[in-house]
Amino acid sequence: MMNRRDLLVGGTGAAACGLLNSMTGRADASTNGPKLREGVWDAHVHLSGVGGTVQQRVDQLLLHAGRFGIERLVISMGTSFVHDPSPEELVRQNDEVLQAIQHAPQQVLGMVYLNPKHTAASLSEIDRCVREGPMVGIKLWIAMRCHRPELDPIVRRAVELQVPVLQHCYWRTQENLPGESTPADMATLASRHPDAWFICAHTGNDWERGLRAIRSQPHVFAEICGSDPTAGFVEMAVREVGAQRVLYGSDAGGRSFASQLAKVYSAGLSEQDETMILGSNLRRLLQPVLRTKGALP
Ligand SMILES: [Zn+2]
Repeated sequence: MMNRRDLLVGGTGAAACGLLNSMTGRADASTNGPKLREGVWDAHVHLSGVGGTVQQRVDQLLLHAGRFGIERLVISMGTSFVHDPSPEELVRQNDEVLQAIQHAPQQVLGMVYLNPKHTAASLSEIDRCVREGPMVGIKLWIAMRCHRPELDPIVRRAVELQVPVLQHCYWRTQENLPGESTPADMATLASRHPDAWFICAHTGNDWERGLRAIRSQPHVFAEICGSDPTAGFVEMAVREVGAQRVLYGSDAGGRSFASQLAKVYSAGLSEQDETMILGSNLRRLLQPVLRTKGALP
């Protein structure tokens, strides 16, 4: 019997990829260009940067994603960004993500947006959207720095449901926003929860420091979305934490799919490493919850 840690380090991504491709019937989805790989999954997408109803926004995102061979979008947060959401605001935003999933269930996955200041409301949103609903992860933004003990009940519930926690992490050139987490905060939280999976979103923006901060925590993924497509980011990530811990995400529509893919395609990686970063790592991470939901055999 394989445990979740074995799944991470054991390189079963190809098997997961095959399962998913047969499930989606998209085995030959990418014919658009020499460097495009089939089955790109984007770990970090929002309903921002595009207009209209939730459904219209999803259609626009999928139109652009499809041009780059991106077949799945993991969407979190609603049509407006709120730094310190109330329980009612969380429900409203998560309802919008549920609408997005319902609109394109073969292409859209969702993460439930929470605020650790509201423990009961957050746990109840996990139940509503993940345990009883279709969502496959937890999204935390800037309401509270993630090293704090208020995160613990949320992470414990994530472990129970076998879903990852995607935490926005930044080191700004000037001061961070109030409540904004750093990669060091992420490492502190992760060290208390060795059985959980974490996604360090943006790898801190200042990725050279971010990678050093999370390097010692094998259950933290370095996710590359949101910053300018500077050379060296993905190269250093692969060198320092290994390709099996690096995830492609875009932060679309706030950022373009293309600029974020460029970080990966320009890194001179082996085909195996590129395939892991662009999709099979995320498929492997979500395999337990997708299986629970009957989306995998
Ligand atoms: Zn984001």
